[in-house]
Amino acid sequence: MTTNHELFQRAQARIPGGVNSPVRAFKSVGGEPFFTARADGAYLWDVEGTRYIDYVGSWGPMIVGHNHPSVREAVERAVRDGLSFGTPCAAEVTMAEAIAAIVPSVEVVRMVNSGTEATMSAIRLARGYTGRQRIVKFEGCYHGHGDAFLVKAGSGALTLGVPTSPGVPKALADLTLTLPYNDLGAAQQLFAEHGDEIAALIIEPVAGNMNCILPRDGYLAALRELCTKHGALLIFDEVMTGFRVALGGAQAHYGITPDLSTFGKIIGGGMPVGAYGGRREIMQQVAPAGPIYQAGTLSGNPVAMAAGLAMLDLVRTPDFHAQLDRRTRLVTDGFAAAAAEAGVPLAINRICGMFGLFFTDAAKVETYAQATACDVATFNRFFHAMLARGVYLAPSAFEAGFVSIAHTDEVIAATIEAARAAFRDAAT
Ligand code: PLP
Repeated sequence: MTTNHELFQRAQARIPGGVNSPVRAFKSVGGEPFFTARADGAYLWDVEGTRYIDYVGSWGPMIVGHNHPSVREAVERAVRDGLSFGTPCAAEVTMAEAIAAIVPSVEVVRMVNSGTEATMSAIRLARGYTGRQRIVKFEGCYHGHGDAFLVKAGSGALTLGVPTSPGVPKALADLTLTLPYNDLGAAQQLFAEHGDEIAALIIEPVAGNMNCILPRDGYLAALRELCTKHGALLIFDEVMTGFRVALGGAQAHYGITPDLSTFGKIIGGGMPVGAYGGRREIMQQVAPAGPIYQAGTLSGNPVAMAAGLAMLDLVRTPDFHAQLDRRTRLVTDGFAAAAAEAGVPLAINRICGMFGLFFTDAAKVETYAQATACDVATFNRFFHAMLARGVYLAPSAFEAGFVSIAHTDEVIAATIEAARAAFRDAAT
């Protein structure tokens, strides 16, 4: 039998860090990753045959559980007709219509192959449409690995961006302004000083990349107003929240209409898919309808579209999100009770299908500064204590947990049973 350790040794020889996406490497929690051999429902099995209850869900797409028969069969049917055509296909049209029907702010949509492509394309479009160059993003939000986003706030009053990765040109980073999330005053000040230079403000309406931070009451509406007042586009990055926190995403949940939205994860059903879309007059600027260039050999791939459409059919069923919300509450209430029983200070944020566990004394966690001040060492002990008991949480204190509809009451009960012991272990 091949072991996880052997595979990781081989992987490290031929793949940077042994992984094809950094967070998989367990660097922040320590130890070595396991290699998944198969997945079904709420479970993963590694190559050694160990089973884990999975709260990562492939980082978001697996909202109906792994290997759902409807999605798998849709893919199997599509594969029989060929893998890629390089011409338009009917499924792309059905997908565009489905997204527009579910998310009313998206009148016109372009399919791409990842969330990163969606956000990169959306800001090019915003720049081309407005004729402005600066973009605004938020500390702790992640929008993929495009150069413009791998930037943190500098120290000057204007907070000219500083690259967070070698290879990102300083000249490009200068165009990215970074604000603290949930701090309206900071946004108002920035727009008062530089509003007419800003092409777009991009935000995760619920921030899932600094654990799970919800917007304060009225915050998103105030950002909407600021953008409108200053002629900047508001981009909701719903790669994580889309079709999850509500069928229509965070924009439906909070009742805000962005100019552009980006999607990924769930709309691909587990296949590599992203999308960006929004108001017709803006989207009509994208080639070949307009002059702003963006393209993709495999975009709108028929197999990926089949998977995504099958997934959308499942999440569109009545009651789906009410059920998912109930499960999210059940598991987070269970975590809260188990932590209290073990005497571990824990704050929890949750919204339908997503949650964040914060090892902190604070009653509420609403900012990046608070999220990063949490006790990472205790989280890491908790993570490993859960893994040893067959529960896989995201291997980082700064990633959201994902609940799927396959997390039944029994699965959740087993999770909480493990958590009661794991909190005790983590506390010592
Ligand atoms: N935007 C958000 C909010 C994300 O969470 C992610 C990935 O986790 C991305 C964009 C990038 O998506 P991808 O990893 O598909 O490129």
